[in-house]
Amino acid sequence: MPNMTESEVFDKFAQIVAKSLRIEPSQIAPDTHLTDLGAESLDLIEITMETETQFHIFLPDKSILETAVEVFGPGILEKDGYLTEDGKRLLLCRLPEADARTFDGEVAVKDLHHYFLRVGTWVRMIQGLAQYTPTECAACGGPMRTSMGFRMKCAQCGLEITLRSGEELNREWVREYYDKEYRPQAEALISATAVH
Ligand SMILES: [Zn+2]
Repeated sequence: MPNMTESEVFDKFAQIVAKSLRIEPSQIAPDTHLTDLGAESLDLIEITMETETQFHIFLPDKSILETAVEVFGPGILEKDGYLTEDGKRLLLCRLPEADARTFDGEVAVKDLHHYFLRVGTWVRMIQGLAQYTPTECAACGGPMRTSMGFRMKCAQCGLEITLRSGEELNREWVREYYDKEYRPQAEALISATAVH
């Protein structure tokens, strides 16, 4: 569903969470954390599966930071359990400005787990992934329906596509960030040091 607005995604996601935790959707706000609503690991698994089914997306297992650390290698984005300046820069580039205060001062990586369980963070992640799920067939314009696994099938001509996983899309974003944002800066720093 490429054209869903943030508030449409929020409403639908709040319904999923409310049903799973047996609470009222009105108890859920973008600033609420799933764990503060009483969600435990099994609830999170249920919420994840229901979200994937209803939005036709494939959520990543790892946070964007975990994927980024795999691409960057150790000691660059986090050091001794804390985010480095490079780590903060990457997360701020990925997450909107409204969240900048989250990364003020010393940020322990283990505290980010809580941050990634914020309803608003999920809503933005869902909205981002939903862009990659077509509602119309690229070949004939017919309606796309859910097929087996993470596939979609055109109801008109039968064309089938495989949905891209959140993990794959995260990794792609990190690689691009590394090449276009991080490396040029790191190289500029090295050559500046070499001149003096
Ligand atoms: Zn078609």
